[in-house]
Amino acid sequence: MASKLDFMRFPAPDGVNGWWESLPPAAPAKGVTDEQRFDFVVVGGGITGLCAARRLAELAPDASIALVEADRIGRSTAGRNSGFFVDLPHDISSESYSRSVEADKADVRLQRHGIDYVRSTVKTYGIDCDWRDDGKYHASVNKKGHAALTHFADGLARIGEACEWLDENAIAKVTGTRFYQSALFTPGCSTVQPAALMRGLAATQPSNVTVFEMSAVKGMETRGQTKLLSFANGTIEAQRVVLCTNAYAATFGGHPNGLLPVYTFASMSRVMSDEEIARLGGTNSWALIPADPMGTTVRRLATNRICVRNHFAFRPNLSVSEGDLAKAKHLHQRSFDRRFPMLKDVELQYTWGGALCLSANNGALFGQRDDGVYEAVGCNGLGLSRGSAAGKLIAEHALGQSNDLINQLLQQPHPRSLPIRPIADVAVSAAIWVKEFSAGAEL
Ligand SMILES: Cc1cc2nc3c(=O)[nH]c(=O)nc-3n(C[C@H](O)[C@H](O)[C@H](O)COP(=O)(O)OP(=O)(O)OC[C@H]3O[C@@H](n4cnc5c(N)ncnc54)[C@H](O)[C@@H]3O)c2cc1C
Repeated sequence: MASKLDFMRFPAPDGVNGWWESLPPAAPAKGVTDEQRFDFVVVGGGITGLCAARRLAELAPDASIALVEADRIGRSTAGRNSGFFVDLPHDISSESYSRSVEADKADVRLQRHGIDYVRSTVKTYGIDCDWRDDGKYHASVNKKGHAALTHFADGLARIGEACEWLDENAIAKVTGTRFYQSALFTPGCSTVQPAALMRGLAATQPSNVTVFEMSAVKGMETRGQTKLLSFANGTIEAQRVVLCTNAYAATFGGHPNGLLPVYTFASMSRVMSDEEIARLGGTNSWALIPADPMGTTVRRLATNRICVRNHFAFRPNLSVSEGDLAKAKHLHQRSFDRRFPMLKDVELQYTWGGALCLSANNGALFGQRDDGVYEAVGCNGLGLSRGSAAGKLIAEHALGQSNDLINQLLQQPHPRSLPIRPIADVAVSAAIWVKEFSAGAEL
């Protein structure tokens, strides 16, 4: 089938990514500047595209592969997140949760498959990204949160996953704050400095992968058996294309594809002094998820910074305003002050936003989209672990392999289309507002 694809939305400078800023300066970017040919082009240098390009190269060592990224690798969404590689289902705390044990176990298998792939790459190449297999804490601040954690623990027991309860004193010993009333520790989550990981994954691609940054694909046309991708300063002709553009693949208007670009926001503190660290107490690195998914995620980093994330906003045009960032910073400061009253003088140095790719039914796009065109898009909230798995598996699928995990992804629901704008805008924003309101004290 002939295809023409216009890329309509591109990454924007949405605040200042603290993970990227706190790394040494990056080497200059190599962009697409003339007419080139490759066997494969992977579009999107997030976690999904980085894993897809690597896996293609591993399985087809004689093929030439281009990985093209509109921004710098590590500066856009995959390098903007809180760095949790989550292995377990995220949402089993709800009383109305009704998925089967088999479906949950299959998700855990998939997520661990992704984590294992990235972990082994990090170890093999010695990627310096603060990779930690230290688990995570789910913490509650009141009875409602504790009840949610109890449901979560029940859900974990149902699928045979271990967890450990911490009371108020035990979680305070970890975090240094008495803000939390109880917590559940789950050991299988890994954490990372996301910008360092993405840079490291790009720098250690096999030799048959050429990485192009600051190179946004503007359009793609079919020419006989090949695809022609156009950029501002050149073209790439390729036999096959793998799309890993996540939220930037969302379409609206006449043919909405049901993908919803929803921003979430993070702030990172400046480096704390020895005296401030002593005032805080606790251990020097921990990762905490709120009992309510709309609450505040917090990480204490071994670099002596604290990173907080909360607040969601539906932004179909894939950029946020100064007002959005100011609001997010205000909310982050409030969350920081409530948790860390002993750190009143520690200001938040960086604030940024990044686009998740959600859908009304947790659907995602995976598989062959067209002759020679594959896609792995829409990994929702667990994008690091699911994106790693989806990237690796879309490469295997494109090379004709078949296995249970590929079948699992092929069978997942497609994103459900919503009414077209502006009705969708109002509905999605209202749903976010209601959920944030109900998160209340966990914010
Ligand atoms: C503040 C924040 C905290 C988060 N915390 C977590 C967390 O702790 N754990 C977790 O699992 N997830 C988290 N997420 C979500 C996670 O970051 C995403 O799910 C993940 O980045 C998805 O990876 P991806 O590679 O599929 O997509 P992306 O990371 O969005 O990568 C897509 C890439 O495609 C590029 N691109 C788009 N259009 C083009 C084009 N035309 N040409 C070339 N390149 C293009 C983009 O620049 C982008 O780099 C968080 C997100 C944010 C914003």
